[in-house]
Amino acid sequence: MPEAEKHMRCRDVGMDCDFEAHGRTDEEIMQQAAAHAARDHGITEITPDLERRVRSAIRAD
Ligand SMILES: [Zn+2]
Repeated sequence: MPEAEKHMRCRDVGMDCDFEAHGRTDEEIMQQAAAHAARDHGITEITPDLERRVRSAIRAD
């Protein structure tokens, strides 16, 4: 059985950015998003509001 993969587009969080995180779980995606935000957007703190926006942008298809 193939593993379902989730993804999250940085653009869907409101950034003008083509980054996409892929992973099997929300936690994998959150880790990638946090690393990307720090590296490419200078966002070193994931606030509860930002975390909510990222999680709501995670898609399963
Ligand atoms: Zn981005």
